Amino acid sequence: MTHPSPKTKSRPTEHPDPSNGEAPRIILFCDFDGTVATNDVGDLFFQTLAGTQAWQEAVEAYRAGLITSRQYLERMCAATRFDPDRFESLIAEQRVDPDFPACVAYCRRQGYPVYILSDGLDSYIQQVLERNGLGDLPVYANRMIQLDTTTIAPELPYWGHSCGDCANCKGYHIRRLRRPGSLAVFVGDGISDRCAVKEADLVLAKGALRQWCREQGYPFRPVDGFADVLRELRSMEEHLRVSAELSAR
Ligand SMILES: [Mg+2]
Ligand SMILES: [Zn+2]
Repeated sequence: MTHPSPKTKSRPTEHPDPSNGEAPRIILFCDFDGTVATNDVGDLFFQTLAGTQAWQEAVEAYRAGLITSRQYLERMCAATRFDPDRFESLIAEQRVDPDFPACVAYCRRQGYPVYILSDGLDSYIQQVLERNGLGDLPVYANRMIQLDTTTIAPELPYWGHSCGDCANCKGYHIRRLRRPGSLAVFVGDGISDRCAVKEADLVLAKGALRQWCREQGYPFRPVDGFADVLRELRSMEEHLRVSAELSAR
């Protein structure tokens, strides 16, 4: 079994552009915790390795807006006692949305890039994706660095582009990865998805994100999982095809 290797340099990851220079019709951006992964693995990670009480106090402060996600990550990583065996067994229990692989396969056939955007840590995201045969998906997340066998710290490669509230601002990634003529579709469920909502052309919202979008007046389509996402993409594809035909007349 592989464990996250210690990383020391704050260097953003770059992934090759899958579209061969031509603007794809759709670009799909997905939140990880509670969206691609059925559980909030980040919450479970800290509950397991830092303790429920430390996590509860920090997450309440974060949800109440008293601390930023950077402060939350720093506090929780400092409280974490990393244990490879416990990490391993936690990861082994995690599942991706059962329809996510089919949605990714559909996007690949259509030539639509798929990106995972997360304000969580790369260590658990990469492991869960790899175990589900999706280890080659581009992931933009914060990094977990191991200072010694039991001590970890967050490393924030995209902090310089943050709005100030996010450690890894999803809005920044959508702005830099979107292409003229492409529809930026975002799927998410939580607080760290708010900056993405402001940038995306189409928001597919799960869970608590729906209420926030409603309150803030951002249009969205409700989804419960990737079966719905796939349905939305197909209907969007049809809509784009018809519009293209009409404008060609
Ligand atoms: Mg989430
Ligand atoms: Zn942000």
